[in-house]
Amino acid sequence: MTGPADDEDVAAWVRGLGRDGLVDIHVHFLPERMLAKVWAYFDAAEQHYGMPWPVHYRLPEADRLAALRGMGVQAFAPLVYPHKPGMAEWLNGWVREFAEREPDAVPTATFFPEPEAARYVEEALRSGVRCVKVHVQVGAFDPRDAHLDAVWGMLADAGVPAVVHCGHGPLRGEHTGLDVFGRVLERHPGLVAVLAHAGMPEYDAAFDLVQRFPRVHLDTTMVGVPFTESFMPVPGDWAARLADVADRVVLGTDFPNIPYDYATQLRAIAGWAEADDRLGESFLRSVLHDTPAKLLAV
Ligand SMILES: [Zn+2]
Repeated sequence: MTGPADDEDVAAWVRGLGRDGLVDIHVHFLPERMLAKVWAYFDAAEQHYGMPWPVHYRLPEADRLAALRGMGVQAFAPLVYPHKPGMAEWLNGWVREFAEREPDAVPTATFFPEPEAARYVEEALRSGVRCVKVHVQVGAFDPRDAHLDAVWGMLADAGVPAVVHCGHGPLRGEHTGLDVFGRVLERHPGLVAVLAHAGMPEYDAAFDLVQRFPRVHLDTTMVGVPFTESFMPVPGDWAARLADVADRVVLGTDFPNIPYDYATQLRAIAGWAEADDRLGESFLRSVLHDTPAKLLAV
C-alpha cells in the first residue's frame, strides 16, 4: 500500500488499487496573466509565509495538462477564485471555455459577495457547472455576507459541491475560521461543502462539522505532506479519525502550485490508509476516485 515513488509511478499504482484513474477536486488553472501573478506571489513566499515555496509544476498550460493525464488523473476540478469585486463573472467565463476545451476538466465557477452574485451563480448552475470554489482568505469577505445567502441556498438545492477555503492556514484572514463557516452551514445544512485542506489547521473543528452535517466533506489538499507537517501537523490520531468519516474524504492537491511533486500527496494519503486497519485499500479507492467522482458527477 506504500504510495507511488514518483509521478512516473502514479498511474500504475492507481491501477494496482483497482481503479483506472484519479479524480482530483482541488486543482488550479487560471488565465496566463493571473497565473503569472500567483507564481510571483509564491516567489516572494519568504516574505508572505516565512518560508520558500518553489512551485513544482511551473510549466506551460499544455505541459501541466499532460502531467495530470500522464499520472492517470481522469477528471479534475479546475478552481478559480476572485480577490476583488467584479472579477468572478469574468473568471467563470474563462473557466467555462477551459472546461469546454479540455474534456477531463469539470466545469466550475466562483463568486464574490456582490449584488450580481445570485444572478451569475444561477446562470453558472444552469450552464452545467458541477463544482464551485470559494476562498475566504484571498477574497477577504465574510461567507455570511447577505449577498451570498441566496447563493448558498441555490448551491444546496442543486447539490453542487462548494470547495471552501475557510481555515486559518496557511494565512489567517479577517473572516477565516471554521466557526464562521459553521454559521453558513447552520443556515444551509443541506449544502454539499468540501472543506479545503481539511480545515487546516483547525482539524478538530473540521471533523466536528463533518459529524454535524452529513454533506460536509474534507479534501486532502496539502494535508500530511512533509512540507505542511513542518508547521501545521495533523493530530497523532489522524488515521483513526478518518476511519470514522472515511466516505467523506476526497482527493485534492493544489496542483500545480505545490512545492513538491504530486506523488508526495499520494504517499501521505497511502500512509494514512496503512496506519489504521479500518482504512486500507478500500479507503484509497474511495478517496482517490469513488467519492470525488460522485461529488463531481463524473
Ligand atoms: Zn487551492
